Amino acid sequence: MRAVQAPREDEVVRVRGLTKTYPAVKGRRGTPGTPEVRATDGVELGVRRGEVFGLLGPNGAGKSTLVRQLTGLMRPDAGSVEILGHDIVRHPERAARLLAYLGQESSALDELTVSLAAETTGVLRGLDVRRARAERDAVLEELGLAPIAGRALKKLSGGQRRLACFAAALVGERPLLVLDEPTTGMDPVARRAVWAAVDRRRAERGTTVLLVTHNVIEAETVLDRVAVIDRGRVIACDSPAGLKEQVSGEVRVELVWRERAPLEVPEVAALHERAAESGRRWTLRLAPEEARAAVATVTGGAAFAALDDFTLATPSLEDVYLALGGAARQGLVKA
Ligand code: ADP
Repeated sequence: MRAVQAPREDEVVRVRGLTKTYPAVKGRRGTPGTPEVRATDGVELGVRRGEVFGLLGPNGAGKSTLVRQLTGLMRPDAGSVEILGHDIVRHPERAARLLAYLGQESSALDELTVSLAAETTGVLRGLDVRRARAERDAVLEELGLAPIAGRALKKLSGGQRRLACFAAALVGERPLLVLDEPTTGMDPVARRAVWAAVDRRRAERGTTVLLVTHNVIEAETVLDRVAVIDRGRVIACDSPAGLKEQVSGEVRVELVWRERAPLEVPEVAALHERAAESGRRWTLRLAPEEARAAVATVTGGAAFAALDDFTLATPSLEDVYLALGGAARQGLVKA
């Protein structure tokens, strides 16, 4: 595992030893309190110029806490954050000039129309009104938001509101875009518009993108490199292809049973112990010869009648994520 990288000249973001502990909260009147949580635990990261870098991990892994420290919104207990040479721990107010941050909440813009949210963001970032309006119009057009430009954010669906907030984040361009789960709740058309807009900025302007996601499938298609976060630590950091090489000796076997699995067949019971189960579907990661044996078992003899379908596949980023283990086994979302 390569969690620590040597500093590089072309790094836009450099994080060293970043640690943040949320204090324990005592329960009141007999209710249980919450224990102390070390939400980021010595995180080391480097994000290079012009790359789309992902922070991937299950809910509660510490991604948002990490990003809030990166963006100067939260002070770490220890460690350093450098963005384009600026010390963000010492000068958190500089972050706003260096990066555009799309957080999980949109409440600050909710009362505004889509159009005004975009224009206001541009003006707050120092554009004159004419320029802000020109950029607003271009971005709303680019993201297909022109037809709902006059509607208030609070009256939109969750996905539309998210897209409008993303649009606002793009007005008054910053060299670093920090996006926390940007496509949550969006339909496929909106998702594609977001990734196309990200890609365009990277290609045309060299924008660097730091993307928080727990959606492995989406991540695989858009990320240049990814840091897998688990319980506040970076447990792996590489390109999606590089991470997949870590489990390249394995084959993913998916079995779908008609009604229930024939656990009375000993070979099937043995597979059951190694399977991740989701309703009628079992997913197994096996060595190639084990995969062949498993397929022979389920396609022959007593098990076959109970089998609805099976597939064999090379590992996906999701398999890597699961193979890395720990808490990453839970909270995985496919969308
Ligand atoms: P993620 O973004 O990966 O879902 P978070 O950074 O939100 O993870 O949370 C990391 C851990 O810190 C979790 O255990 C969460 O319960 C805890 N946590 C997050 N915010 C707070 C807070 N304001 N107070 C106490 N604990 C928190």
